[in-house]
Amino acid sequence: MESKGQTELSIIIPIYNEQDSIPELYKRLTDCAAKITDNYEFIFINDGSKDNSLYKLTELSKSDSRVYFINFSRNFGHQIAVTAGLDFCTGNAVVIIDADLQDPPELIPDLYKKYKDGFEVVYAKRAKRRGESWFKLVTAKVFYRILERVTTVKIPVDTGDFRLMDKKIVEYLRLMPEQNKFLRGQIAWLGFRQTSVEYTRDSRKYGQTGYTFRKMLHFALDGIISFSDTPLRLVTQMGLVVSLLSFVGIIYELYGHYILKTTITGWTSLIISTMFFGGIQLISTGVIGLYISRMNKNINNRPLYIVANTNCEIKN
Ligand code: UDP
Ligand code: MG
Repeated sequence: MESKGQTELSIIIPIYNEQDSIPELYKRLTDCAAKITDNYEFIFINDGSKDNSLYKLTELSKSDSRVYFINFSRNFGHQIAVTAGLDFCTGNAVVIIDADLQDPPELIPDLYKKYKDGFEVVYAKRAKRRGESWFKLVTAKVFYRILERVTTVKIPVDTGDFRLMDKKIVEYLRLMPEQNKFLRGQIAWLGFRQTSVEYTRDSRKYGQTGYTFRKMLHFALDGIISFSDTPLRLVTQMGLVVSLLSFVGIIYELYGHYILKTTITGWTSLIISTMFFGGIQLISTGVIGLYISRMNKNINNRPLYIVANTNCEIKN
């Protein structure tokens, strides 16, 4: 505890049902951290795991005073788990890493080296991804490309949250109040000197993914909505184009009715246009709704997470 003030390296590891990977993860992390400094801390966040993860973490914390755990009262999601780690960590350099060994701990010394060269953010860029379903690969690829096009901040393509950050970055992240966290976007938004180290992303070694399709979709929407007004602008433009088209249509119909005296019989065209406009209106309302629901969450301003128990000192 005494050394907490001058921790050199903090490693933040969100845990959701990772009981099988924890022993190997701990071992590999210890080896890698030891290459950098003796003064490190591991902060495991148990995000409402339903398996034995919590027990494994508390056991580790008993045998190793550098192991801290934060036990959430329920599952709050990956980004919130990492946020809790950022709130509690004390290191000069802070690493975020997945628990499933898809992010190789062995890369951490490389990240640290770049940090020592003077970069405030060193993110790990996936050069290759192994053993993931084509669905995940394709959706991830499409998502990152869309994100790149619609956002104004430069969020690096093909990077996850596996990265090393300077204390400064962590302090700014703590000041950012948004409820729907999209950390990689927030970090890109902050600026400073950022660089990357490439790596091959392995397949998950133990257990299975905690990111359901639903969670992935929410996460993707958070990314786009927090960093871009493009969806709103798009529906406005869509509305304008459609209004213009329908105006031309109205003129054409009126001309036919009054001047040419040929009233067009057209149930089909009628139903098609009704459905078309109905669809556009619903989409537009939905898009606005997405923004409003996120605003609502920020106005409610509930605590981001609830800690059931922890062995970290409560700070602030
Ligand atoms: N995770 C979490 N809460 C969740 C889902 C996942 O803390 O609700 C953790 C998980 O234990 C892992 C990291 O977030 O350490 C990445 O999750 P996962 O490997 O399931 O995602 P994927 O790599 O499939 O995108
Ligand atoms: Mg994974």
